[in-house]
Amino acid sequence: MDYLPVFLQLRSARVVIVGGGRIAARKADLLLRAGAHLTVVAPRLHEDLHDRAAAGRLTHLAESFVPAHLDGTTLAIAATGLKEVNIAVSEAARQRNVPVNVVDDASLSTFIFPAIIDRSPVVVAVGSAGQAPVLARWVREQIEAVLPASLGALARFMGERRRSVQRALGAAARRAFWERIVRGRAGARVLAGDEPGAQRAFEAEMWVSRLTTSAATGDSALGEVYLIGAGPGDPDLLTLRALQLLQQADVVLYDRLVPPAVLERCRREARRICVGKVHGAAQGHTPQEDIHGLMVRLAREGLKVARLKGGDPFIFGRGGEEAEALARHGIPYLVVPGITAALGAAAGAGIPLTQRGLAQSVTLVTGHLPEDDALDWRALARAGQTVVFYMGVGHLGSIAARLRAAGAADTLPAALVERATLPEQRVLRGTLGRIAELGSQAGISAPALLIVGEIVRSSLAADGAALATSVAAETAADLIQPL
Ligand code: SAH
Repeated sequence: MDYLPVFLQLRSARVVIVGGGRIAARKADLLLRAGAHLTVVAPRLHEDLHDRAAAGRLTHLAESFVPAHLDGTTLAIAATGLKEVNIAVSEAARQRNVPVNVVDDASLSTFIFPAIIDRSPVVVAVGSAGQAPVLARWVREQIEAVLPASLGALARFMGERRRSVQRALGAAARRAFWERIVRGRAGARVLAGDEPGAQRAFEAEMWVSRLTTSAATGDSALGEVYLIGAGPGDPDLLTLRALQLLQQADVVLYDRLVPPAVLERCRREARRICVGKVHGAAQGHTPQEDIHGLMVRLAREGLKVARLKGGDPFIFGRGGEEAEALARHGIPYLVVPGITAALGAAAGAGIPLTQRGLAQSVTLVTGHLPEDDALDWRALARAGQTVVFYMGVGHLGSIAARLRAAGAADTLPAALVERATLPEQRVLRGTLGRIAELGSQAGISAPALLIVGEIVRSSLAADGAALATSVAAETAADLIQPL
């Protein structure tokens, strides 16, 4: 280890920055956040520093550097861009045993600034001993992506309750208790911004800890369910919260729509249970009631259950029914939104769903006909909008026929987007009059969406290039755009 990472308490400590440019301004902001009493030595100041000096947040000495500037200081930073001044600062600091950092010059420095993630009071620092700052920043970004934004809130939540837990529980039980707070319901609630819910979970956890011996095992006695939207398929389209909860869940109940690449993002030790079905396939279908029963049972066993659903749980996902069932049984749950298939398909196929002058509204509608046919077809056939049909591949003929009977033109552009955002995504463009025939010729199968509206004509390829294909093209082969 070339450098020892430490966290310095700088509140009210005198710190000197030599240099008044943009980089000095960045360092100044960091040091002010840490509560330092800052003196900036520089003949001229960058406007940001000037503002802070004018606001009285730092002292500005409009002078050239002399070693005496470092008398009585705790830290020194040189950010002048002038080698001889930087050397002078470095030497003066060393003579006074003051730690010094010369920006971008590890050889003149006795300490270096790490790349940081600030979720105060939790702070993560990443360093590369000055050898690869860009790599350190990349590492920081990777860590940042998996750390919840409200990590600081969780640390404060725990800090505020430390004393009462210390009074209530013995030393052995305490650690297990805090483990359960961090990994369990209370932690998940704080991270989701629900402090009252977190407090209730905390109290329940405390109650259980006092009563039972499970405290010693580290297992939470309290389970809950996360109804998580998995997005349209590409695992990178999971939300950060989905990812964080998938990393915590003990059991994952997933639909068939959820591809293996998404399941790989679950905690390695998590049990995975497939409860979904491809629409219309009888095999492997778990009735909805059984899914409810399973969620309730697993949560009552004290497990954290991720109910992972394609797209968004509240869009044609029966998430509402599942939430209701959980509420009925008194099981706490959280809903995590996902990118619904229509949005994935729009981005993947380059079809904006609304656009000035072409589509003022977008409707997401079930194409699961005829069972769900309480639709207002005249409204769906109106111009100036985009209509996206879910679950409609098996009924393309009747959807098109109903739209046309309700007044839509045969020539209205339409597209089929199959397996949107996945590597096998296919996009087929045509007209309402021919889309069913083209779809069956091309063998388009579920999961796929039908998008109808003028906007399909002017759509772009996902990479922004205008599509060569014309809507009037005659053969399916001309129209298929594997991306
Ligand atoms: N809750 C999901 C929808 C579930 S209904 C969501 O919000 O996306 C199942 C239907 O969604 C499928 O029949 C299909 O029409 C659509 N769908 C889901 N994923 C899809 C994908 N990757 N590409 C195209 N359509 C998809």
